[in-house]
Amino acid sequence: LSDRLSGVFDRLTKQGALSEDDVKTALREVRVALLEADVSLPVARDFIKKVQEQATGQAVTKSVTPGQQVVKIVHDALVEVLTGEGEPGALKIDNPPAPILMVGLQGGGKTTTTAKLAKRLKEKDGKRVLMASLDVYRPAAMDQLAILGTQVGVDTLPIVPGQKPVDIAKRAKQQATMGGYDVYMLDTAGRLHIDEVLMDEVEQVSAVVNPRETLLVVDGLTGQVAVEVAQEFDDKVGISGVVLTRMDGDGRGGAALSMRAVTGKPIKYVGLGEKMDALETFEPERIAGRILGMGDIVSLVEKAQETIEAEQAERMMKRFQKGQFNMNDLKMQLEQMIKMGGMQGIMGMMPGMKKMAKQAEAAGMDDKVLKQQIALIQSMTKRERANPQILQASRKKRIAAGAGMEVSDLNKLLKMQRQMGDMMKKMGKMGKGKMLKQAMS
Ligand code: GDP
Ligand code: MG
Repeated sequence: LSDRLSGVFDRLTKQGALSEDDVKTALREVRVALLEADVSLPVARDFIKKVQEQATGQAVTKSVTPGQQVVKIVHDALVEVLTGEGEPGALKIDNPPAPILMVGLQGGGKTTTTAKLAKRLKEKDGKRVLMASLDVYRPAAMDQLAILGTQVGVDTLPIVPGQKPVDIAKRAKQQATMGGYDVYMLDTAGRLHIDEVLMDEVEQVSAVVNPRETLLVVDGLTGQVAVEVAQEFDDKVGISGVVLTRMDGDGRGGAALSMRAVTGKPIKYVGLGEKMDALETFEPERIAGRILGMGDIVSLVEKAQETIEAEQAERMMKRFQKGQFNMNDLKMQLEQMIKMGGMQGIMGMMPGMKKMAKQAEAAGMDDKVLKQQIALIQSMTKRERANPQILQASRKKRIAAGAGMEVSDLNKLLKMQRQMGDMMKKMGKMGKGKMLKQAMS
């Protein structure tokens, strides 16, 4: 595959914006990579279509080929789809005792994952955990959980032969409440295939304990089957998250993408082996790299982008030192701030700007304000941006109106640009060493 790809990239070497042809050619290879990673066909097709629209017309980073640029765009889009809401791996388990229901097909790794997760909650989060097996069909399953419990030092609910799953669930709830546990985990029975009896049982248990989390445990190597199982369970009992097991295998993990695309549920953890500590928080970046199998290209493009950004920053710095700071510069600063998630962005990295960044933040300059300011700058002509001092009252009115703002807002922006320009000039007069010292302060 790599050979084929580099062949494609050699042919696509012109610079500038990505043409539709560039994108199409590169995406043909990406499509093959996705299918080879076991991403389901409709998901791959939708994904490619979305990326195609998104990528066409985007700029190509210097020293990178269009094909490579497309791969980076694909990678970023993959990460975006794979990323669920909230903090990775976080579970809603406050208000003790919090019930966690573990569901899935037989052999998917439920019992193992229950014990792994219990261990993790105990050791990482300091939770008191109780585990209970609801698998009344295979007595060995209950013993299995008890043994794992001993192994990881987590309590299991005493086994009472002949009890129905719903009754065991009730007993677990009671025990967890009385025993002062933070969390109780219910390991349900699985079948080889989805069937009504199993689903009804899980539904009943769910109704009794009202779980805070219902985690579906599926074998990540089963690809499309895993996705169907997820959909089925979500329709019937509602799942809050997914654990993909056997991600230590050879599979490229395409099920993760299909899973996210089809169910929209967050993938919380991945199982990476049979050992009790082989459970990790799901990391979109890592799985994206694995699905695409083009990590080298992605890091190459990232490096090129970093280099360019560093060059740009240096060029800007040189201009600032000469006292040149116009509206284009200000716009770039504002955009950087949004991109870097607030005031601690590039501004915070420049000499003397740290303090100003803090002040701006304190003054409530959030993303919305930043965007409004950028809109104001965009309403100016090229000449006005380069020399904002030429703005007359009538033009100011027009510009403010054009951006849906008041003249007073524009005046504030002009003042900011002047002040920043003055500051830059002052810093330019200082020696380099002194500037550095100030930057550290
Ligand atoms: P259950 O029927 O869903 O409860 O599945 P089990 O927890 O009993 O697991 C079935 C088998 O899969 C066991 O041999 C586990 O050791 C194994 N297993 C579970 N999770 C993983 C994993 O992440 N990686 C590997 N390699 N094996 C796993
Ligand atoms: Mg089991």
